[in-house]
Amino acid sequence: MTKFNRCILRGVLSIVCLWLTTACCHAQAAEERPNFVIIFADDLGYGDLACFGHPTIHTPHLDRMAREGMKFTQFYSAASVCTPSRAALLTGRLPARSGMCSNRRRVLFPDSLGGLPADEITLAEALKSVGYATACVGKWHLGHLPKYLPTRHGFDRYFGIPYSNDMRPTPLLRGEDEVEEPADQTTLTRRYTDEAVKFIRENQEQPFFLYFPHSFPHVPLFASDDFLGKSRRGLYGDVVEELDASVGRILSTLRDLDLDEKTLVIFTSDNGPWLTQDLEGGTAGLLRDGKGSTWEGGMREPTLAWWPSRIEAGRVERALASTMDLFATFSSLANVPLPNDRSLDSYDLSPLLFESGESARETLFYYRGYQLMAVRRGPWKAHFITQTAYRGKAPVEHNPPLLFHLEHDPREKFNVAEKHPEILALIQNDVRAHRATLDAAPSQLELR
Ligand code: MG
Repeated sequence: MTKFNRCILRGVLSIVCLWLTTACCHAQAAEERPNFVIIFADDLGYGDLACFGHPTIHTPHLDRMAREGMKFTQFYSAASVCTPSRAALLTGRLPARSGMCSNRRRVLFPDSLGGLPADEITLAEALKSVGYATACVGKWHLGHLPKYLPTRHGFDRYFGIPYSNDMRPTPLLRGEDEVEEPADQTTLTRRYTDEAVKFIRENQEQPFFLYFPHSFPHVPLFASDDFLGKSRRGLYGDVVEELDASVGRILSTLRDLDLDEKTLVIFTSDNGPWLTQDLEGGTAGLLRDGKGSTWEGGMREPTLAWWPSRIEAGRVERALASTMDLFATFSSLANVPLPNDRSLDSYDLSPLLFESGESARETLFYYRGYQLMAVRRGPWKAHFITQTAYRGKAPVEHNPPLLFHLEHDPREKFNVAEKHPEILALIQNDVRAHRATLDAAPSQLELR
């Protein structure tokens, strides 16, 4: 063999070796990549589940999920209304960065022309880049025109109503096609669940991400015949109990397919209870106010994390965490690098879920549209502006800000600002540092 041929042979062998090593690593990584399921209720309050203290709503499946997994007592959505909350969950970014919020029309409507910008990176896109199968089943509310639908944001499949179930018209979409209008909402939870179970079964051999945002218990409330009139809490209770049964079907599907030990399931809600709906709205339990406000009841959510074999059973976690953190957490567990060309508001919760109980999150910024209303730092929360979600109440500015110690006073009743000027000074520093990161944000798009 000539020297030249030996060189060629050596070159070819090195390429083959490199290819084998890379293929091996990929196969190994794929095998280790867990599945992810997010079950997202709509307008469910902090106090609406039995495992979060409701005295009459019966939620045996969610209670079991809490017993087998972890219950979060200080877990937050990123906004107190639908559209910005969903944008933040899927991008790991505050809505003020993506433009998915508004000071006037607070969510998207059927006559809106906008939606989640194409250059935002969703969890579905991040996970799809490493081979995940992806599906969104349920309420989207990030733009209903074709270019904004889930199918254009990294989801292989979509089945659901593209915005709130009280908006007209009320189309049910499969992919990008309307299959029913108005959607028959009495069977909606069951049909969503059928679709979710089907997706899991069809993708059991590969990593998958199921984003399952329910349309309920947002009003108008509907339950199927099996649940209607069955709860002790009226129609609202019937609807929540049907959601609970849906969670039971998802978890038992994962068990039946032996996927329970490689699937992380998160259950939470997009915002607090819609208190102005009276008996048709839920309750935030001991927390103040509800949907639409930046008091705790508007944004603190009843949250569970379940992954038998990885998450210690029965743990109650009191650390600070947010729906925005799921982006960095899932990315880390799936070995997807985080985008480095934009600001993220997402912290990897893996150490909190699996190891030390420490959360990387120390602060939380509470927005209404583009207006920063309050900041939480550790146990402290300062309100610069407050506005109740009850109708007809104007915003109130506070100078000095109101200050509450949320662990002593979860109901936000006792203002201790005068006693703790040093805490207010620290929070003002947090605000300055935070505002500096927003300077690079796109101009306020407003939801149109
Ligand atoms: Mg909502």
